[in-house]
Amino acid sequence: MEFDLFTSLINLLIVYMVFAIAFAITVRRHPGLGGPRHWLVACLALFTGYLGVCLRGVIPDILSIVAANSLTLTGGIFLWTGIRSFFGLRCQWWLPALFVLSASVLLGLFMIVWPSVPARQIIMSVFTILIILFAVRDVLRRRSSALTMETDLFIGFTGAEAVIHVIRIITLMVTPVATNGYLLAQNQPDKFFFILFFMTGTTRLLILVTLVSARLQDELNQLATQDPLTQLPNRRLLLERLKHGIDVERRSGKQLALLMLDLDRFKAVNDSLGHGAGDELLQQVALRIQARLRDVDMVARLGGDEFIVLLEDIAHPEDAARVAEEIVADLSRPFQLRQSNESDHEPGREIQIGASIGISLYPQHGTNPELLMEQADTAMYEAKQAGRGCFAYFSEELTVAVRKRIALEGRLRRAIELQELRVFYQPQIDIASGRIVGAEALVRWQSPTEGLIAPIDFIPIAEETGLIIAIGEWVLRETCRQGRRWLASGFLPLTLAVNVSPQQFRRCDINALVAEVLAETGFPAGQLELEMTESGLMDNQDKAVEVLTNLRAQGIRLAIDDFGTGYSSLAYLKRFPVDVLKIDKSFIDDIPHLQDDMEITATIIAMGHILGFKVLAEGVETQEQLVFLWKKGCDTYQGYFASKPVTAEDFAELLKEQQMNG
Ligand code: C2E
Ligand code: MG
Ligand code: MG
Repeated sequence: MEFDLFTSLINLLIVYMVFAIAFAITVRRHPGLGGPRHWLVACLALFTGYLGVCLRGVIPDILSIVAANSLTLTGGIFLWTGIRSFFGLRCQWWLPALFVLSASVLLGLFMIVWPSVPARQIIMSVFTILIILFAVRDVLRRRSSALTMETDLFIGFTGAEAVIHVIRIITLMVTPVATNGYLLAQNQPDKFFFILFFMTGTTRLLILVTLVSARLQDELNQLATQDPLTQLPNRRLLLERLKHGIDVERRSGKQLALLMLDLDRFKAVNDSLGHGAGDELLQQVALRIQARLRDVDMVARLGGDEFIVLLEDIAHPEDAARVAEEIVADLSRPFQLRQSNESDHEPGREIQIGASIGISLYPQHGTNPELLMEQADTAMYEAKQAGRGCFAYFSEELTVAVRKRIALEGRLRRAIELQELRVFYQPQIDIASGRIVGAEALVRWQSPTEGLIAPIDFIPIAEETGLIIAIGEWVLRETCRQGRRWLASGFLPLTLAVNVSPQQFRRCDINALVAEVLAETGFPAGQLELEMTESGLMDNQDKAVEVLTNLRAQGIRLAIDDFGTGYSSLAYLKRFPVDVLKIDKSFIDDIPHLQDDMEITATIIAMGHILGFKVLAEGVETQEQLVFLWKKGCDTYQGYFASKPVTAEDFAELLKEQQMNG
């Protein structure tokens, strides 16, 4: 069959009609979807535009051309606004209006003063290219990730169209025969372009249809994984995330927590205030839970008043309990409902509910999603039984331990405010002379209910919660104040050693703090020693060197605590400006029974001396240990053999005794 212009025009009309029908159906089925509505108008405009061209000869030429040109232009504009609205962009109506207005004015002018085809063609082409460029720019700005491929195709084809337009303008300008022909005249270069248009136009419309279906698929997927009331992920998406989370944690060796949350007294709200109020309450609950979580966490609604929170990558079981407690506290605050029972027309109502949370942990309580959900559910019933408004772990011991820990955290916070902390001092003895030359300041908690609590029972919690910074600051200040008092009462100068936690080292300006405390208390910098552990220093070696150098510049002595239990590398010993190595108690404990420990101790002493450090042995409890250390040339020691850590008063007594003995 001969492929003449008329046949292709008819084909084009059919194509546009088919698309128009497709878009009309889409608009009816998905009234919320921007795009197809505009494309429908675009199809109709283009369709009528071409129809205008077809009717040449039947209606006056001038009418057919004006109709064809302006309708094609309108079609292009609707295509563009459709694309904008499809990608969720607002339509700026002033822009298309500007196009139409200026195009009609220019077109009219040209037709009067220069009634040749190329002029009109050029004007039309310029405007069409502009529309295409705007559309491509918009699409590039806002691409939905799910639709990337389709938009790429779309841009490719509209780009191709733009190129064809450019070639067309050039051809029209250089081909003399075109000057008095019309779009549909036979044997003209336009025939070729018309066929090309037919192809690219059809492809573009095809791509639009693909875009619509991809977008609909997107929405369907969302519907399948989303709770329609709260817009939270549903059980299906949660299980997927949980499965993925378990895989990740398995590889990284970390923990994951599942919090099953059930509202207390929700049924009462639903029954008394109606389902509208119940729905609104659930939406507000969803928002409050979300606000409490990190970006990486996930909250899903399982249905009814059951929510589930997934916490990935947690360091301790208490972290989950802390989040659970915060959520319980958040949800126990009153909710303000806008709508209440439809029958009475009150403006709104304040209601109070609560929540119980069951927690299961990966890997302790299960290694697959279903089991973890089950265990969290069981734990949730435990929590409800325990009196609602609280959390429970799947295992009883863990619940008890974690509740205790969290309670301890609260009490410790108050203890700092109520000044229940004390500093004890453990003498440090010069081995050669047997005299007290210093003391290590060790914190204690004098609880009114539980008596004296050892640091081992609260320092780890203080480290986790950051309370250690306040505690450390207080111990430093108190020790310097005490040291100053001893100097004032005429005791010989002593070195007072204060422990510095890695958290303090990392998170606060220890240099400024020390300078401030020394200035405030008047304690001499040369008598203050700061003890740091190897692990605390190794975290960030460059920063450690800088901080230690600055501390040293203030005249402060630096000691490495628990030496031998960490990295004990010669490289860092050389880098860090340190004065004292404190050999860890674990090496001293088995002297003189364990040959290995004796060798290690002797080696640390010898190595320390070669590198220019003083060496102190910790935890000396027997005469034999002391004799061994003396033989190996250790400088100082501390331990129960000389004295346990004692109160400031008792320590002053020890000093007095020593001074009396000469
Ligand atoms: P550390 O700095 O290694 O302190 C030495 C610990 O060994 C002290 O325990 C001390 O009482 C104990 N000790 C000393 N000689 C002997 C002995 O002969 N036998 C036995 N069995 N133990 C001995 P304490 O006071 O319970 O402190 C434990 C840890 O708590 C300290 O270890 C230190 O890491 C931390 N700590 C204590 N006070 C503070 C503080 O103010 N700030 C910071 N950041 N940590 C502190
Ligand atoms: Mg220490
Ligand atoms: Mg130690």
